Amino acid sequence: MDFNHYSDQVAGLAAELVNFFLPENQPAGLAGLRGLLHTYETSDAITGEDLERLRAHAQRLRSVFSAPDLRTATVELNRLLRETHAAPVISEHDGRDPHLHFASPGAPLVDRVTAGTTMALAVVVCDYGLQRLGSCASSTCQDVFIDTSRNAQRRYCCGGCSNRSNVRAYRARAQGASSG
Ligand SMILES: [Zn+2]
Ligand SMILES: [Zn+2]
Repeated sequence: MDFNHYSDQVAGLAAELVNFFLPENQPAGLAGLRGLLHTYETSDAITGEDLERLRAHAQRLRSVFSAPDLRTATVELNRLLRETHAAPVISEHDGRDPHLHFASPGAPLVDRVTAGTTMALAVVVCDYGLQRLGSCASSTCQDVFIDTSRNAQRRYCCGGCSNRSNVRAYRARAQGASSG
């Protein structure tokens, strides 16, 4: 895939945000959220209310990742685009080439994150298709990911999940062979 740098980064952040709010990651809390959003320059403190707003947003994003078909995904993305007031603006910060940001720089952090992650997923779905929004195939993992593989055939969120699933499948076969 050949994303421009900004929507590439932010699409990745959309997946990380969904995964951040999985029950097993909750101890990360506010400090973890600050780490996750470190690329967003802000002088605002991140509050518990921000955390809750982003938790609700992450659930909506998850429904896009797990949408059964393109139509369902685009309906939800359009709803989110309206609600998050995504407002594209061309930025040349830090001497970079002009590129699109999806909310005005003065907007509150959570508004920038919700608008940006929504726009980034909309770009992925429109330019590359829904199959680029992946959910881990492991039975014990609920992580989502952006599939940047050449043929959009990636099944697992990470090498660890892929290895564990292979081991489980191997053991199941071995057990079947020895008991049968
Ligand atoms: Zn930028
Ligand atoms: Zn996984």
